[in-house]
Amino acid sequence: MSDYKALEEEFAPTLYPKRDLVAVRGEGALLFDENDNAYIDCAAGIGVASLGHSHPKLVEAIQQQAAKLITCPNILYNDVRSELLKKLVEVTPVNLTQAYLCNSGTEANEAALKFARLHTGRPNFVTAMRGFHGRTMGSVSATFTKKYREAFEPLIPGFSYVPLNKIEKLETAVDDNTAAVMLELVQGEGGVNPIQADYIAAARELCRQRGALLIIDEIQTGFCRTGKFFACEHFDLQPDIMTIAKAMAGGVPIGATMLNADIQINPGLHGTTFGGNPLACAAALAAIEVYQNEDMAARAAELGEYFETELTRKELSQVRAIRRLGLMIGIELKQKVQEKLSYLLEHRIVALPAGANVIRMLPPLVIDKEQIDRVVEVLHDCLT
Ligand SMILES: *Cc1c(COP(=O)(O)O)cnc(C)c1O
Repeated sequence: MSDYKALEEEFAPTLYPKRDLVAVRGEGALLFDENDNAYIDCAAGIGVASLGHSHPKLVEAIQQQAAKLITCPNILYNDVRSELLKKLVEVTPVNLTQAYLCNSGTEANEAALKFARLHTGRPNFVTAMRGFHGRTMGSVSATFTKKYREAFEPLIPGFSYVPLNKIEKLETAVDDNTAAVMLELVQGEGGVNPIQADYIAAARELCRQRGALLIIDEIQTGFCRTGKFFACEHFDLQPDIMTIAKAMAGGVPIGATMLNADIQINPGLHGTTFGGNPLACAAALAAIEVYQNEDMAARAAELGEYFETELTRKELSQVRAIRRLGLMIGIELKQKVQEKLSYLLEHRIVALPAGANVIRMLPPLVIDKEQIDRVVEVLHDCLT
């Protein structure tokens, strides 16, 4: 028996509610502990390992790039960085023609907020209740839920929050001082809450009329998770700014802020040391190639539907609602979620919460039907 748990508990601040599993290796949709017990991973590094663990194409790209060049400052040009920029502009909505590369979701959102203030010269932001945009000071100011925010006040001024899917509330909130409206298309941490098509269409039009930018946070929904390459495609939506991260490089830290052609940022106003490093860029290029070549979006759409169909074959007496887009699945319970997550882990399934009473499933998109059958079997045991 190892001391790994004890070491983490002793030498890291207690920020995370830990689960009783030391994961040392992964393969596809499976995680293995130190005794080589297999777990079905429906967390996927919190929506990161969409290609599954140790995908051979990703491993090869990282190995080759590591032997070639790992770091390269943004004051120099680089071959793989330039290729990734081109690829990102290709795969994101057509109006987005520039990509600012960084290292995480929250950094992508920080850049989005700064660029929106720069571009509009306006101070304020409107975001959605139950939204989640990250943990740094700007992103956490954009995040509604008090438990993420309150202990760190005073935060960045200028943020207000509106209930999702109520267009009249947004109409009241957006004015001449609004730099941007920032929204998720399916709220992830907030409980897997999909946005309504008429609401996002109206929000797009409202922002256009009032001179505010529309920022879409696709950090969790991007890269095939919802059954389209980006969730924007479900709504035929062209945001002014789109932020992406999580599954972008299959697990290697990276993020990006996509901008429309009008948004011009002067030299020296923003930047990053690690952002756009060749190692992460090579990983992202390899991951995106697999998402495209293996049509992972179609796979996520099909498997998501399969999951829901199988799950709802039985009467689920403890379930209030199931919300889903592709393989982004929320199961809202009539009770708190913790006990159920423990039950799942005891049966070798890693799942996530989304708020107090929602089980969230974000399995790798390479999960197979047999593995889904097993997950559904255990869910049936604990939810009926
Ligand atoms: C995870 C997440 C973030 C923050 O990303 P980090 O990489 O953890 O900083 C922001 N927005 C959404 C929608 C997310 O799911």
